[in-house]
Amino acid sequence: MSWLNAKRRTAGTFLLYFCAPWKVATEIAVSILLLTATSAWSEPVPGSLDVHWNEGASDCKATPQAPLQVHAYEPQTFMLRQSPCADFEANFLYLLIGSDKALLIDTGAVADPKEMPLAKTILELLPEKDHKKLPLLVAHTHRHMDHRAGDPQFASLPSIQIVPIDLEEVKAFYRFTNWPHEIAHLDLGGRTVDVIPTPGHNPTHLAFYDNRTGILFSGDFLMPGRLLIEDAAAYHESSLRVIDFLKTRPLTHVLGGHIELNTAGRAYRFGSHYHPNEHRLELAREDLAALPAAFESFNGFYARHPNYILSNPIRNLVALAIIAVAVLIFIVWGVRRLLRRRRQHD
Ligand SMILES: [Zn+2]
Ligand SMILES: [Zn+2]
Repeated sequence: MSWLNAKRRTAGTFLLYFCAPWKVATEIAVSILLLTATSAWSEPVPGSLDVHWNEGASDCKATPQAPLQVHAYEPQTFMLRQSPCADFEANFLYLLIGSDKALLIDTGAVADPKEMPLAKTILELLPEKDHKKLPLLVAHTHRHMDHRAGDPQFASLPSIQIVPIDLEEVKAFYRFTNWPHEIAHLDLGGRTVDVIPTPGHNPTHLAFYDNRTGILFSGDFLMPGRLLIEDAAAYHESSLRVIDFLKTRPLTHVLGGHIELNTAGRAYRFGSHYHPNEHRLELAREDLAALPAAFESFNGFYARHPNYILSNPIRNLVALAIIAVAVLIFIVWGVRRLLRRRRQHD
C-alpha cells in the first residue's frame, strides 16, 4: 500500500465517519417527509355534518324562512341548501376552496337573486388573495335546470368562469378525449378534484371527488331520493366506473344534489315544499357498492332500496298511459253494454 493510497483510505474513512451521520439524518428526514406526504394524501381532512337541514313547511307563506342555508363542513368546504319553500327541488350546492381557486358545484333551482341570493352568498364566502376575491369556477353535475338555474347570477362577475352545459362543450372544457372512460382533474391550488363521467341519469352527468375531504359529490347520480334513469346501461356502467375509481381511495361521504326520502325511506310527494323527518344527506361506500346489483335486478320501472329508489320516469309514464287507456276502453265497453241491455228491456 502506497502512502498515497493509505492517505486516500484515511481520508475516505474520515469522510465515511464524518458523512454517515449526515447521510443517516438526511435519509430519516426524507423518510419523514415521504411519510407525511403519504399520510396527507391518504388521510382526508375531517369535517362536521352535524346540521339540521331546513325542511320547508306545509304552509310556506305562513312560515317565512331563509332561502339559503350555509353549513361549513370544514373551513374550506361549504355546503349550501336551498330551502324547500324557495323551490321544491331543495338543491344542495357545494363550495370547495383551494389556495388559488374555488369551485362551486351546481347553482341550484332558483334564478332570481332577490328570491335566492346565491352569488352574493358565495362571494361573501370566498376568501381574498392579493386583495382580490379568489377566482371561482362554476361547474355542474349535469345540465338539468335545477342544477344550473342560478348561473346567470354569476355571468357578469369578474374572475368567474362558468363551465358550459352541452355535452360536447363539457368534454372540451375538461379535455376529455375518451368519454366516459377517463377521469379529468381540477387543480384548485393544494387541492385536486377528480371529475368522473357518470352518464345514466343524464348524458352530461359528472361526479366530483375531492381529494382534500375524501367526499364524492354525486349530484343526481346517487342521493337519498329517486334515481331517475334515462339510460340504465350507461348508469350501471357509471356505477362500476366510480366504484373502481374509489377502490384505492378514502371515501368519507357521498353527498348528492337532493334529499327526497324521509327517515323511513319513503319519498315525499313530487313537488312538495315540506320535508318532515328527512333522511340524512350523506350516503356511504356501501350505498355506492350496492348500486350495480340494484341495476342488475331492476325491473325496468321502479325499485325501492334502503337509501334510494330506482325509477324510470318515461317507462312509468308509458305504463300509466297504457293502464289509463285500458281503463278507458273497459269503461266505454261497460257503458255500451249497459245501454244495449236497457234498449233490449225497453
Ligand atoms: Zn337531474
Ligand atoms: Zn336534480
